[in-house]
Amino acid sequence: MKAVLPGGTIGVLGGGQLGRMLALEAKRMGYRVGVVDPTPDCPAAQVADFHFEASFDDLEAARELASRADVVTFEIELIPSDILAQLETQVPVRPSASVLRTIQDRLVQKEFLKRAGFPQPPFTSVRDSREVREAAGLVGFPAVLKGRRGGYDGRNQVFVAGPDDLQDAWQTIGSRPTVLEAFVPFKMEVSVIVARGVEGEMRVFPVAENVHREHILHTTRVPARVSEQVQREAEHIACGIAEALGHVGVMAVEMFVLDDGSVLVNEIAPRTHNSGHYTFGACVTSQFEQHLRAVCGLPLGDPSLLSPAVMVNLLGDLWLEGAPPWDVVLSQGNARLHLYGKAEARAGRKMGHVLVFDADTDQALREAESIVAALRRDRSSPSCRRPPR
Ligand code: AMP
Repeated sequence: MKAVLPGGTIGVLGGGQLGRMLALEAKRMGYRVGVVDPTPDCPAAQVADFHFEASFDDLEAARELASRADVVTFEIELIPSDILAQLETQVPVRPSASVLRTIQDRLVQKEFLKRAGFPQPPFTSVRDSREVREAAGLVGFPAVLKGRRGGYDGRNQVFVAGPDDLQDAWQTIGSRPTVLEAFVPFKMEVSVIVARGVEGEMRVFPVAENVHREHILHTTRVPARVSEQVQREAEHIACGIAEALGHVGVMAVEMFVLDDGSVLVNEIAPRTHNSGHYTFGACVTSQFEQHLRAVCGLPLGDPSLLSPAVMVNLLGDLWLEGAPPWDVVLSQGNARLHLYGKAEARAGRKMGHVLVFDADTDQALREAESIVAALRRDRSSPSCRRPPR
């Protein structure tokens, strides 16, 4: 299979922060990058060589991108898999339309995991209000009702404490096909970023320990504080899934670790992932370079950790009173600031992240939290440091 070498063009469907960091790495390595995204001046377009301002279901725009690219990839699961399937007749598309089709519908994803024998929380499909009750009988309480599509960052999810909450939850989710899943009393959430190349070779990044707040990733700590056995099990599951799917590129598998050390799959993202941002600074090869290497048919890079680190997300809430005082990050030598160039800050919107390096990840976590607290501080307070104008 012919490799796409530096100088070639990478077509990316989706132009958010994941596309931006992919484009940054691609530009560093001498590639050209084209993006399709409906938002003018979206994060990836600010780095890419060309941008088609078009919706994800615009076949003409996707075809135009493919006609100018040596390989097409995507950074978001909202791309219609039929569009990918059409592009596959034109240019190599990695990951494939069939991988996206399996992952982008939560029920199809869960049924695939079940067939392939991967451990996950008990779940069942719900198509109408009558089935909600039956489903609760199968899954038990507490449970989580999850929309089948577009459900990242906890969107489309409702916690169901007991039978009295069922009908309300069904209304809240919009009375449409969903999955009811047992709520898991996990000890820890972890994720594994795995890359699989065109010949089936795989490289795994260190297991990451994640903390979510209101269903949105808050911090990632690496290495995760898990036993060697849990680490091996998590890696084994992630590699097994990538293999079973015939995935090409980077993939993230989010998992729950229970008290007894067992590991359950929560969900799969067939792309680079927020919980892998630490790799862009803390590893020899970032998840973005690794994804490029995989989709371009190049040898995979070394995923080793250069330094233990903590990543903390910067959400739009920090911008409510204007741009945060960046000197609190920039004055700290072991902190690395990433901003995504988003024009509009909204509560809960991912605007950037900070990496803090320290051999002691408890210390790195304390520093990361204190940076966020300082960025959040009331700007009118005299103790608040402002960046020089
Ligand atoms: P998801 O969008 O499915 O990854 O869910 C976002 C977050 O909600 C997860 O990272 C967990 O913190 C929480 N969550 C989702 N599903 C469950 C579950 N079955 N049991 C416990 N917590 C869950």
